[in-house]
Amino acid sequence: MSAGKWDEKFKVFLKKYYWDEILQLANEYPDQRSLIVDFSDLEIFDRKLADELLENPDDVIPSAKQALQQIDLPIEASLDDASVQFIKIPNKIPIRDLRSAHLLKFIAIEGMVRKATDVRPKILIAAFKCLRCENITYIPQAGMKFIEPYECENETCGKKGPFDVLVKESTQIDAQRLQVQESPENLKGGSQPQSLDMDVEGVLVGHATPGTRVIVNGTLRSILRTTREGKSPFYDIFLHANSIEYIDTEFNELEITPEEEEEIIKLSRDPEIYTHIIKSIAPSIYGYEDIKEALALQLFSGVAKHLPDGSRIRGDIHILLVGDPGIAKSQLLRYMVKLAPRGVFASGKSASSSGLTATAVKDDFGDGRWTLEAGALVMADMGIAAVDEMDKMRKEDKSSLHEAMEQQTISVAKAGILATLRSRCALLGAANPKYGRFDRYEGIAQQINMEPALMSRFDLIFVLLDTPDKERDLKIAEHIVKAHHAGEMSEQRMLIPGTTITQEDVDLKMQVVMPQIEPEIMKKYIAYAKKNVVPVLEEDARKYLIDFYMNLRIQGEGKDAPVPVTARQLEALVRIAEASARIRLSNVATLEDAKRTTRITLSCLKQVGVDPDTGAFDVDVLTSGTSKSQRAKIKIIKDVIRNVASRHSGGKAPLEEVYIEAEAEQIDREHAEKLIEKMRRTGDLLMPDENHIRIVL
Ligand code: ADP
Ligand code: MG
Repeated sequence: MSAGKWDEKFKVFLKKYYWDEILQLANEYPDQRSLIVDFSDLEIFDRKLADELLENPDDVIPSAKQALQQIDLPIEASLDDASVQFIKIPNKIPIRDLRSAHLLKFIAIEGMVRKATDVRPKILIAAFKCLRCENITYIPQAGMKFIEPYECENETCGKKGPFDVLVKESTQIDAQRLQVQESPENLKGGSQPQSLDMDVEGVLVGHATPGTRVIVNGTLRSILRTTREGKSPFYDIFLHANSIEYIDTEFNELEITPEEEEEIIKLSRDPEIYTHIIKSIAPSIYGYEDIKEALALQLFSGVAKHLPDGSRIRGDIHILLVGDPGIAKSQLLRYMVKLAPRGVFASGKSASSSGLTATAVKDDFGDGRWTLEAGALVMADMGIAAVDEMDKMRKEDKSSLHEAMEQQTISVAKAGILATLRSRCALLGAANPKYGRFDRYEGIAQQINMEPALMSRFDLIFVLLDTPDKERDLKIAEHIVKAHHAGEMSEQRMLIPGTTITQEDVDLKMQVVMPQIEPEIMKKYIAYAKKNVVPVLEEDARKYLIDFYMNLRIQGEGKDAPVPVTARQLEALVRIAEASARIRLSNVATLEDAKRTTRITLSCLKQVGVDPDTGAFDVDVLTSGTSKSQRAKIKIIKDVIRNVASRHSGGKAPLEEVYIEAEAEQIDREHAEKLIEKMRRTGDLLMPDENHIRIVL
């Protein structure tokens, strides 16, 4: 290798600033084979050299490497294959702002690894043996295409092959391709994240799994795009990585100034803070105070705990919204993604090829290699994943959700890829009932196409019914129209120059849909609380939760009474109480927090786990869709139908007679209709014509 322009300068720099590190590297070589240099050291040493690195990395990096490899060591050791990695590069460029001016410059890209291929060897210098004269020709393989010798280098031979590639004589390097995507928190207003491909080699390979947050420092390169018609004049760009920095802090991107911190603390001391926060969640959506309160708790979340046996208990609160269409479920989800310091929105229906969790695929990106791709729950690691239309999820997603929700990891074992990705996120799901509208006499699990085992992993489940209610309907209608009215005025003021609408008019009308706390400061409030507040439950709070839980369990005592709640609910109670304390930035979860928790939990249980007939708690309603008393009623009505049918030919029972006899058995007409409808759907009943039914079997 020829001496580079900067070799001597680098030798001085390395000796002066990195002597100890070099000695250590020499000791551990070749297990360790790279020296990590902080850019700011280089800047202090020689500003011009540092600038040169950013401007001409292809000259400067090889120089630094050369200098390191040739440095005089006081011990008997060699660093002949060591390299230099530069970190903490100031030129951090958002992926969407990359332009042609950045080509061949040294830049830093921050984001989240979305895809990672297998690690495979790549030839750096290929050795070709001429099969006629056995001479070996070496050809460096710098580009994207494999270059073969034009003719044998041996002058007396000079034939155009054939050649064999000698693996042993060639120089290989480990190579991997990554795709890095903009972090969700850096996206403005729900725009689609953009991504950049990265080539990583040597010591850098094999560390970054999908979902990892990274800063990759490297040189931006381009290759001509080839299409089916041949080469096109457009370039594809990729980053040739020099170093990777791993980030594992929750909210490093959100900077909170001392003034903002002061404002946050002031807000937290307001006795009305809970109301303020609830009123700041989706203010354009009318009502749903209880759901918004739960959503607020989800934003703040409980405390994740690490036990001595190495296990981890999640602190994230999973919430499911089930209900009729058109009642603002999707809107709530979208707003939550906006409010969460880190939010990812996905739909069960249209989730990309990577689905909700993760998949291993063989595609163009990996040039035929296997690629591991992260789905929404991995991308939302340490944030909130809002998944709409969960009833339309794919089967594979459903099965991996169990692990993703409880252990908060996602294991992939496919095609030799064995990986565990992290999904430490809170899941906010929404689901529509199968038959369009919610049927209160049928189990939720069945209606939204989700197994009971999966449903039980949600800490809170809300059922939203669109039942006509004159008073409420009017209020919603007024609220929606007011929001539109304010919007119209604001648009007219902005777009029509001579309008008579003033800013004061607009501000006045906007008040109804104004969040009490601005989303930007709310985001920081949440980030601040999650980072700085770790509540511990007080004695009486603990006792209160245990009592509450035991009380619910007691309802399940007795010979064949239904079991009301499971231990999962107790864990949920603890998490919610912790979140409640976090909202007011308190490190103590008090009795008040415990009371808020049981109030919310009770209102949920009332919707999902109550026998519509008796009003008693019964998780069977949730799981099998049929409560104990309903099962009994179905039995009664079946007997009635059999009875009536036996009096008629062909086993056909006239509906009218069935209703009359059912009423005699204390099942009113409306209820009997519901039960019959249900049995018809499950295939237990046939309806040969409008007025007759027949029992199957
Ligand atoms: P879903 O996902 O439940 O089917 P959407 O979120 O798509 O429903 O909501 C449908 C529309 O109805 C949205 O524009 C929403 O703003 C409006 N809407 C429904 N309920 C309310 C409400 N309570 N307050 C304000 N707007 C509402
Ligand atoms: Mg929807």
